[in-house]
Amino acid sequence: QVELHDLHKHFGKLEVLQGIDLTVERGEVVCVIGPSGSGKSTLLRCVNLLEKPTRGKIVVDDFDLTHRDANLDLARRSIGMVFQQFNLFPHMTVLENVTVAQRKVLKRGAAEAERTALDQLEKVGVAEKAAQYPSKLSGGQQQRVAIARALAMEPDLMLFDEPTSALDPELVGEVLRVMRRLADEGMTMIVVTHEMAFAKEVADRVIFMDGGVIVEQGPPREVLEDPRTDRAKSFLQRVL
Ligand code: ATP
Ligand code: MG
Repeated sequence: QVELHDLHKHFGKLEVLQGIDLTVERGEVVCVIGPSGSGKSTLLRCVNLLEKPTRGKIVVDDFDLTHRDANLDLARRSIGMVFQQFNLFPHMTVLENVTVAQRKVLKRGAAEAERTALDQLEKVGVAEKAAQYPSKLSGGQQQRVAIARALAMEPDLMLFDEPTSALDPELVGEVLRVMRRLADEGMTMIVVTHEMAFAKEVADRVIFMDGGVIVEQGPPREVLEDPRTDRAKSFLQRVL
């Protein structure tokens, strides 16, 4: 369970998050939509403390990440993140990409790390690429490796920031299928996406952000098909 309490983030004078309150239950899939610059990426980056919130509280499983004595490494370990740009290490093979953090952060031995890596690569359907370098893979395959890498750390929460936006259209489906299965398996997920069909079918809740605040939230059908606010209406008219 993730709780955000009155989360604020400033970059200098710019207030990018203007008080976000959000609770995500265990096993819940929350999709975040909203215009460019509305603060979606900043919100995700604050949740796993890639950015330090200016004000407010982040509590994951009753553990206050924003407490000044919090062990951030411990906290980050339980949160996986997948970015728009796959961010694989280009000088490492696929297998090395998926084992390196297991070895360094979780202190797993080589055999266990490789076994876990191959299991996860199998699940996302790229096990046969284990010995290849990322540059030899399609974008969809690279993104699935990035998902496997995050899952190998056995996170309690997965954050996705527009994971399919950099992909050729014909490769989007293979990544969304992997994400959908993860959702079906009960993973807690916060997904920033422009894939409205995915949001409609997979999300338990859709959040519409604009100007650093949550303008509207609810079940996908309500928010996507019958938005209450003009801001959400006009955004959806533009993207659908
Ligand atoms: P997009 O849909 O384009 O990805 P977004 O909703 O993810 O947009 P953010 O990336 O969170 O938006 O950015 C929100 C605002 O914060 C933007 O105005 C952006 O320019 C600003 N911003 C983000 N990161 C920084 C930073 N490190 N320093 C200064 N300003 C930043
Ligand atoms: Mg963004």
